Amino acid sequence: MARNPRYDALFEPVRIGPVTAPNRFYAVPHASGMTNAMPRMRAAFRETKAEGGWGVVCTGYVSIDPSSDDAPLPYATLWDEEDVRSHALMTEAVHRHGALAGIELWHGGGCVMNRLNRDPSMSPSGTGWMPTHVSYMGNQRPRAMEPEDIRAVLEAQRRAARRARSAGFDIVYVYAGMGYLPYEFLLPEWNQRTDAYGGSLRNRARFVRELLEVTHQAVAGRCAVALRISLEELRARPSEHAPSEAHELVPLLSDLTDLWDVKMDSETTDCAPSRFTAEGSHEPVIAFVKSLTDKPVVGVGRFTSPDAMAGQIRRGVLDLIGAARPSIADPFLPRKIDEGREEDIRECIGCNICISSWHDGVPVRCTQNPTIGEEWRRRWHPERVPPAPGRGATVLVVGGGPAGLECALTLGRRGYEVMLAEAEEELGGRLRFETRLPGLAAWARVLEWRRGQLQRLPNVTVYRGNRLGADDIIGLQPAHVALATGARWTRLLYSPLEVPAGRLDGPQVHTPDDVAAGARLEDPVVVFDFDNYYMGSALAEHLAKSGRRVSYVTPAPYASAWGVMTNELPQIQRALLAAGIGLHTLSRVESFADGELTLVHVFTGARVRLPCRALVIVGARLGHDDLHQALAARREALVAAGIRSVTRVGDALAPGAIAHAVYAGHRYARELECGDGGGGPPLRDAPMRSLSRPEDPHHA
Ligand code: ADP
Ligand code: SF4
Repeated sequence: MARNPRYDALFEPVRIGPVTAPNRFYAVPHASGMTNAMPRMRAAFRETKAEGGWGVVCTGYVSIDPSSDDAPLPYATLWDEEDVRSHALMTEAVHRHGALAGIELWHGGGCVMNRLNRDPSMSPSGTGWMPTHVSYMGNQRPRAMEPEDIRAVLEAQRRAARRARSAGFDIVYVYAGMGYLPYEFLLPEWNQRTDAYGGSLRNRARFVRELLEVTHQAVAGRCAVALRISLEELRARPSEHAPSEAHELVPLLSDLTDLWDVKMDSETTDCAPSRFTAEGSHEPVIAFVKSLTDKPVVGVGRFTSPDAMAGQIRRGVLDLIGAARPSIADPFLPRKIDEGREEDIRECIGCNICISSWHDGVPVRCTQNPTIGEEWRRRWHPERVPPAPGRGATVLVVGGGPAGLECALTLGRRGYEVMLAEAEEELGGRLRFETRLPGLAAWARVLEWRRGQLQRLPNVTVYRGNRLGADDIIGLQPAHVALATGARWTRLLYSPLEVPAGRLDGPQVHTPDDVAAGARLEDPVVVFDFDNYYMGSALAEHLAKSGRRVSYVTPAPYASAWGVMTNELPQIQRALLAAGIGLHTLSRVESFADGELTLVHVFTGARVRLPCRALVIVGARLGHDDLHQALAARREALVAAGIRSVTRVGDALAPGAIAHAVYAGHRYARELECGDGGGGPPLRDAPMRSLSRPEDPHHA
């Protein structure tokens, strides 16, 4: 199919200093969870984006010097010549597809803890970042930078930029965003210096200017020099010479910048989840920079619609369509627009599971795209699957939730004859209810995209309103059965040993499944959440919005405590408080009788009573296992019917997030009858370097 001329502007080349991007699709720097210990995974992951049509593909954050050590978070390094080889793998891979490669050189300043090398970290005036969440806390404050430290960092940037050039990068960054060292120089909270680097904005901008200068010197006109910067804060600060300090800053830096990459000042606004923030939320800051510079500007907005993208160009908001999450959810997004296949775009749902993988310290995972991060390790391509052996046996998939849908789709693409049976009239499994919860409507894309794709496969037949039992399955005589029958929430409470225990029954005790099924809840309602992900808080919000008096109880210190992993913890607390929901943290439910709930403080054991006429327990889930057991008990009948395998997939086997179910469905379908995706067991990546150790007399 041909490209829609409406989107032609997206495919125009853009000059960026001495290099030219072949189109306007720009995969911005984002944490991938892949360190220099995984150079092949990293190269393949980024090559896939280049193959999918992104005109520029960037690294994540790359430390320029051991004085910026983010361990144990997964960051990359460009500290020596051996690191060059590791990054060169990526630039070669990206160049194979005609794309440009960008590298985000980074120094974390007072935001890093240097946990590995144990040198005190540095910031302009010895100020440290003091977040309240344990995973970011450190208990050694940075030291104030001496003039020679400033010179040393500039030299480190110069050396790293030279190495970047020899590794084959086309765009080299100065990173003045989000609390990192150059940003710290710009803000008076961090920078109380009285020398030439502190005081007036011109002085505070000096370090960023000098970083840009040394980078230009190092790349010697062979690479573009990009500036990634956060300007929300400075836009809010008055200036004597301009409407704001940001107005003053942009012209001060524009002559040294080949490209402006505009981002927000904090994780929660920069990479905001769809639950609380709409697409395009960065527009005011991006458009602001664009209005003050004639250099190209890239910005993000979780854009997935080509109309929204073309609109951004037409309205002069930006020059390059930046994407981190949309390029993860669909590395082939540009190619699909180019080929007139917009409806094939697998749109990001804004759930931030990808971010959680970085917090976890592992390679990126995605709810929508099960192949991300597995391009090299498992040889999984997002658009190609191995064909089924022979003529394609018949596979019955039971359950049309995220696992079953992904499973049926991938089996269908491989050429199997697929029957997908769903008990309910509507497909979607857990998504049927969950996408009706406040803020979660965009998650319906998990269902919509798969439903759309399935409709085009003549070898997949979908049966709705068909609850299958063991006899039905045997009667259908498929070669293989995938049981993607999901899980149910239990009425188990939470024991002092922090495990689910002690089932609580009674007409006023409910689970999210009961609420989904329309249970009548009497006021006041208490939601007791020890699942800790979104369900507890989203359900509490949902119930409050429907006019009920709601309290929320959790043994964790925050509502939806795992939300710190998806950058949504602050918004969740705000949303619950704004909805008038009473929060009782560090508490567990002990008993419930006569309209009263007894809570116990998890540390002191102090008891509190809460009025309650309906308790909703959002705790442990258990996979639906009945069908599996019924089939296991009929082994002979299975053999007689020619059924060669029965496998539980997704929540039915191990209840998890939607991302887990999609991955499990995909993996089952990829590996059926060819094992390990057809290419053997997962590969183990290794650093490019050989271990070099000076002679050690103690170990001689
Ligand atoms: P997952 O996240 O693993 O996909 P879900 O709970 O979202 O799990 O989806 C499971 C789906 O399986 C639900 O839509 C449910 O109605 C369906 N299902 C469960 N048991 C049967 C059955 N015996 N026959 C057909 N569909 C079933
Ligand atoms: Fe988008 Fe969620 Fe995938 Fe991240 S994990 S790219 S937010 S769909």
